Amino acid sequence: MDLEAIGKVKNRFDEPEDIKEMRESESQIIVDENYIEGLDGLDKGDFLKVVFYFHESNDYELKGKRREGKVRGVFASRSPHRPSQIGVTTVQLMEKDENVLKVYGLDAMNGTPILDIKPYSSWLDEPTGLKNLDNPRQYINTLVEKEKYDSILAKAGELHGHYCPNLSLGVIGGSYAMKKLKQTSIGMEDVIAIIETNNCFSDGIQYSTGCTFGNNSLIYRDYGKTAFTLIERKNQESIRLYFKQNDFLEKEYPETQELFQKVIVEKNGDKKDSKKLTKKWKQIAYDFTKKQPTNLFKIEKNPQIDKIPKKAPIYEDKYCDKCDEKVMATRIIKKEQTQYCIPCADETYIQLDGRGMIQK
Ligand SMILES: [Zn+2]
Ligand SMILES: [Zn+2]
Repeated sequence: MDLEAIGKVKNRFDEPEDIKEMRESESQIIVDENYIEGLDGLDKGDFLKVVFYFHESNDYELKGKRREGKVRGVFASRSPHRPSQIGVTTVQLMEKDENVLKVYGLDAMNGTPILDIKPYSSWLDEPTGLKNLDNPRQYINTLVEKEKYDSILAKAGELHGHYCPNLSLGVIGGSYAMKKLKQTSIGMEDVIAIIETNNCFSDGIQYSTGCTFGNNSLIYRDYGKTAFTLIERKNQESIRLYFKQNDFLEKEYPETQELFQKVIVEKNGDKKDSKKLTKKWKQIAYDFTKKQPTNLFKIEKNPQIDKIPKKAPIYEDKYCDKCDEKVMATRIIKKEQTQYCIPCADETYIQLDGRGMIQK
């Protein structure tokens, strides 16, 4: 076997340190001049898989206590102490200057030999890229089962656009309820969520439960409460979670509350304030994932709920005589011999927006 170092790591970590701290700091990969042509095509912003050699690790245990305290086999861990001392991490390329790559996300110490660099590929590196996965939610189901709230939050952020406390609460509450009711969702209305708010919380619920606006498994009741009920249709088992720590901001993060007031409520903050809030919001979101759901929520099993509707019917299609667009039959407005869509008929309708359900 012939392995060659193609470069090495330069950063401020001469000793192994907290991985999170390392990943959040900048590292440089100094690529050997002989390989510089091989960097052609790498661009700022690209995600890369970096393969490196744990040069300071020498012994290993095939089975032993790992960082988080659990006993497990070396191949079920990311420990640097392993038979082949190879580490793999996904990083983001922030800048490329000839043979120097500035990256974020690397958890390798200063001086670590780099063995290889490959572009990250969602097709190859994301579990959802696996051809045998007919259920696109299989990976999320695994995370829910293992209560990996932080990993689910990371994914939910892709949908939501930012990390915030309410998104996190939705993720935790939704995941907790799914596990309690032993549910997985394939988006066919077998499991339903009744949501009582349309703030960030509802995106966390949609992501973690798979009950969404589009698959008709999400019922919106305009109560304006950070709460939801998960219902399993077959046995009518249900669970309601209501967020009970409403004073968490002033109690645990008073400076963030001031910032929130300034930036969001009074719309008075500058760019720096917004950036600071984004960072704080993310930190609180991740702090929540370390708490016990039972401390965050008031939890009720099989609460009293109004009858849930039957599975969504499929309605016939009709056409508006004025604009010729296809319309669901129940939304056609008949005026004398002519049929119209709602806007062409100038009829009232209900709109769901940031203010809740509004009659227009
Ligand atoms: Zn949000
Ligand atoms: Zn029309």
